[in-house]
Amino acid sequence: LFEPERANSAGWDLSAPEVLARLEEARAPFAEAQWQAAPRLAADPDPEAPEPQAVRNPARPEDRVGTIRLATEAEAHAALDAARPWGATVAERAEVLNRTADLFEENWGEIFALLAREAGKTPRDAVAELREAVDFLRYYASRAPLLDRPARGLFACISPWNFPLAIFTGQIAAALAAGNAVIAKPAEATPLIADLAVRLMQEAGVPQTALQLLPGEGGRIGAALTGDPRVDGVCFTGSTATGAAIDRAMAGNLDPAAPLIAETGGLNAMIVDATALPEQAVRDIVASAFQSAGQRCSALRMLYVQEDVAEGLIEMLKGAMNELRLGDPWELSTDVGPVIDAAARRGIEAHVAQQRAAGRLIWQVSAPNAGHFTGPALIRLPGIGALEREVFGPVLHVATYKAGQEEAVMDAVNAAGYGLTFGLHSRIAARHRLAEARVKVGNLYINRNQIGAVVGSQPFGGEGLSGTGPKAGGPLYLPRFTRPARQRPIP
Ligand code: GLU
Repeated sequence: LFEPERANSAGWDLSAPEVLARLEEARAPFAEAQWQAAPRLAADPDPEAPEPQAVRNPARPEDRVGTIRLATEAEAHAALDAARPWGATVAERAEVLNRTADLFEENWGEIFALLAREAGKTPRDAVAELREAVDFLRYYASRAPLLDRPARGLFACISPWNFPLAIFTGQIAAALAAGNAVIAKPAEATPLIADLAVRLMQEAGVPQTALQLLPGEGGRIGAALTGDPRVDGVCFTGSTATGAAIDRAMAGNLDPAAPLIAETGGLNAMIVDATALPEQAVRDIVASAFQSAGQRCSALRMLYVQEDVAEGLIEMLKGAMNELRLGDPWELSTDVGPVIDAAARRGIEAHVAQQRAAGRLIWQVSAPNAGHFTGPALIRLPGIGALEREVFGPVLHVATYKAGQEEAVMDAVNAAGYGLTFGLHSRIAARHRLAEARVKVGNLYINRNQIGAVVGSQPFGGEGLSGTGPKAGGPLYLPRFTRPARQRPIP
């Protein structure tokens, strides 16, 4: 497939003292700033709209980050009426998306501050997130001129809180690049970063009729969009259950040809065999399971270690877990920040408590009491079949297997039904080939960690219960936002 000339962003090197000094300076004005957001509509606001409500910092709930005025269903209907596909030429659209990317980079201090205070993102996570957002914008801008088919019309983009900037922006950039109008429904937990992103997109030149923002509850605002025949396609990232509900709503109401582009949950596994380099494996396990407090759908949930090396590896893993620094993500030294809210914390802790009661908890790092923190935990399980659900936090399950059972392990992972990421640590080339042939996943990673797919070089997405494809950040993504060429009748 043809690749237009393009480069991913350079990002920010947080190991360089001068970059850290610039970061401190860029963030400082926003340490106590208050953001105020409301729906961004190309229609009049609803006079019956509710009062704004407070948005709080998950690491320090006493820190009020700002307020959000949620959208009403009447406003969802008004937005659907007011939406108009972006009429500009493809070159103009690409230019505006590239200008948005520049504005994102220029406003990095405000973005890093808001990512920390609203979403609990460490500086390292914020670098990855802002880079990915910028790369999506420039990547889709570079590919849009290759499209030879018209826009579909209006897309509803429904995005998650775990990548409140990157996934939010990636969905919108793809739909706009292809010439559609967008109504975006950001996650309930992260409306302020979404509002900032839309503010910058509109400042760059995206017209209000082509991009409207409807912060609100999934069950009401999301449902009003995905069940409405004025919508020509839905782009969704979130839980498998919500993805299935959207699919049903669309099937009952939308044109049967309207696409659902969904990226959903995962029960991601990794195999570490006896030939793996233990230091490297442990470093990659810790990153895969605990970076971003385990709140990535790509994160490692189920580790399989060959029994001959399991005891030593688990000891090393415990040691590495003890080195993780939990705390306020504003601090540059923090490795693991909070989980998103009190309900998330309760759900994760209930799972850990249940496993502890069953005698399966191997280790848990202690966590700060204030804020929505939960300590990284290691739990012994017989295998992936014992995991009933995706636990979306810093919880890693580990099982052992006997030499030669790799195929059986891969089959068990496939049988769980998800198919997002899979990791393998092994120095046996035939085993790499086996994983490539046998494991049914979107993203397979060998001798490295299994998070942080890179736009343009590692398109990201799953199969089975993990999503519909096509993969985000890959060459097949944009065409899905266009209308297939009309078939000519046979003469
Ligand atoms: N693209 C991200 C990664 O590769 C994960 C996205 C998600 O969690 O939804 O880690």
